[in-house]
Amino acid sequence: MQFADLFGWDVDFVRDIKRGDQFKIVFEEIFKNGEKMGTGKILAAEFFNDGKRHRAFYFSGANGADGYYNQFGEAMKKAFLLAPLNFTKVSSRFNLGRMHPILNRIRAHKGVDYAAPMGTPVRAVANGRIDFAGVQNGYGNVLVLKHGDRYSTLYGHMMKFAAGISRGDAVKQGQLIGYVGKTGLATGPHLHYEFRVDGVHVDPLTAKLPQAIPLEKKYLAEFLKRVAPTVSQLDGISTDSSTHRETAVSKNDSSPASIAN
Ligand SMILES: [Zn+2]
Repeated sequence: MQFADLFGWDVDFVRDIKRGDQFKIVFEEIFKNGEKMGTGKILAAEFFNDGKRHRAFYFSGANGADGYYNQFGEAMKKAFLLAPLNFTKVSSRFNLGRMHPILNRIRAHKGVDYAAPMGTPVRAVANGRIDFAGVQNGYGNVLVLKHGDRYSTLYGHMMKFAAGISRGDAVKQGQLIGYVGKTGLATGPHLHYEFRVDGVHVDPLTAKLPQAIPLEKKYLAEFLKRVAPTVSQLDGISTDSSTHRETAVSKNDSSPASIAN
């Protein structure tokens, strides 16, 4: 199941499985006093599906960056939720020539308004870090998340932030960050949501959002260095036999083992 979860964003395990598909897994085995206690995380995996090879590697240590990445350092999971909340309706779209309902003059609307009842939970659309959490004039209680080097999202008019939210903290995709409100310039409860790529606002409803957030550049070199031995390990597993084999390659605590089909 862990394996299926890993590739579940790229492969439909019900419909896409083909004769001749192959997989390889490098995973932890947990030992205590020389006795095997069970299995732990998958450290690396390869899935050869319908002629296409997918690879995933576990990487930890970078603040907020724990998880699975492909060989290029791109996250395996889809980077962005489609919306940060369960909304009633889109009450105002991205519109650079919009008449502001309170200011009564043309003011670009560089985001999307999601109407929802007061107190509706607002969730981080992607893994990231809190870049700003506080009050800004028109936005009221506003939160800005940074996702890697290129992307950021903004959540405005919130009633309040979730407990423990503070600048610099890492957030996970789907994590509760606040509640819908009408602070700042708002006629009713809604979430004002903005999406920026390289600092430029894009329409989150129509923009082709990135599939995956790459690791920040500062972690990429370390990632490539750390996965190199696992890449060789995957390469070294033969899949020429049709019988299932299991090979424990080490017996230290939390040792990597590998299997191939
Ligand atoms: Zn708005």
